[in-house]
Amino acid sequence: MSKMTANFDPVVTAEKGTYWQPFTANRALRANPAPRTMVSAKGAYYQTLEGHKVFDTLSGLWCTPLGHAHPLIGEALQKQFEKLDFAPSFQLTHSGALSLAQRIADMAPEGMNHVFFANSGSEAVDTALKVALGYHRIKGAGNRFRMIGRERGYHGVGFGGMSVGGILSNRKMFAAGMMPGVDHLRHTYDPKHMAFTRGQPTWGADRAEDLERLVTLHDASTIAAVIVEPVQGSTGVIVPPVGYLQRLREICTQHGILLIFDEVITGFGRMGAPFASQRFDVKPDIITFAKAITNGIVPMGGVIVTDEIYNTFMTGPQNAIEFCHGYTYSGHPLAAAVGHVVLDIMESEGLFERVKALEPVLEDAAHSLKGTPQIADIRNIGLTAAVELKPAEAGAGVRGAAVFEEALKQGLLLRVTGDIISFGPPFISTEEELKTMMSTLGKVIESVG
Ligand code: PMP
Repeated sequence: MSKMTANFDPVVTAEKGTYWQPFTANRALRANPAPRTMVSAKGAYYQTLEGHKVFDTLSGLWCTPLGHAHPLIGEALQKQFEKLDFAPSFQLTHSGALSLAQRIADMAPEGMNHVFFANSGSEAVDTALKVALGYHRIKGAGNRFRMIGRERGYHGVGFGGMSVGGILSNRKMFAAGMMPGVDHLRHTYDPKHMAFTRGQPTWGADRAEDLERLVTLHDASTIAAVIVEPVQGSTGVIVPPVGYLQRLREICTQHGILLIFDEVITGFGRMGAPFASQRFDVKPDIITFAKAITNGIVPMGGVIVTDEIYNTFMTGPQNAIEFCHGYTYSGHPLAAAVGHVVLDIMESEGLFERVKALEPVLEDAAHSLKGTPQIADIRNIGLTAAVELKPAEAGAGVRGAAVFEEALKQGLLLRVTGDIISFGPPFISTEEELKTMMSTLGKVIESVG
């Protein structure tokens, strides 16, 4: 017998802490869960348990660019469920995964024609790191074991992704379990040189020379790969300086180091192109993706690799398993079906073009808040932006938390980390919605003080 009764009250359960929530200050949430309990969503809006209708300023967690409850996605899910709800992906396959892999490869930069499916960004990152290690080993360079990440990088929460990631709070509790041989580049953010920059800063490309320094320190023959987000998303939209990614590419090529772009946020349109690689015109060796490919509706992630990497794996012993890696749900039929319909909608509604058209609208709206005394920086690229608040006298994060609470009442669901507010609105947002989002934020900041 289920213990759940007809009188189930989400607030009571939340207060008890039965559900231990991820990346959440659980004790604080338990004190007042109602405003943060979502009950429904449609289009670009959520409805909270308290009855507020709030604009979804981050597309869920950067993952619902088409908005919520898209009827075509619901139909596709139902149809696929009736046809083939699951098929193992080990030594078997199905047409949905095959055709989605083909379609993703067709969108990827030239010469990147092979897709390996996982179920999340974290799994995609760990897959990419393993591909890099395996690739070098097959090539007789098994001593290339080092991975280079970047400060302020977020690459998920697996042991690999955590290790190459550059966020202290995600690392310190688990320091004992770090992957060996990982080093980091500096991040590229320096408000002294780039505060209030629209789009890409012109300062900072030479931070890529950090990689040369690490090559000198460790010797290139020990380095397997460098992993960076083309735009650092989770740590507050840190936009690559002009020329920075190009320089990383050059140094990697020169030293036989693989370059991994973690495009979990930037993949599938958020930069106004299929991938940020195309927007910035830099081709990595491996791209990770997740989130938008299924509009956040069913989990899916994966990696795209170059022909050179794939062909290297395929030169191993005949008929042996070339890459002993994979997940029960790799290429899940329901995820593949949703992936197809998401790409159909993006194509038929011209959403990459729409992102390009909305970029200056978001940029202008965000930067119109410049001059607000509480704001330390505003930055943007593609359909992303960040408004960084000056810390309140009461301490770091206090102003951010107050702005979050007040914004909910004013119809905005914000993503606030410390004092940084990150924006990644749905591609279906109207110009008016983007303007209102920023003008409301301005009023909220003013009223919070
Ligand atoms: N990489 C990047 C760049 C991300 O932004 C994220 C999630 N925000 C991840 C990896 C991890 O993805 P997931 O939470 O799906 O594991």
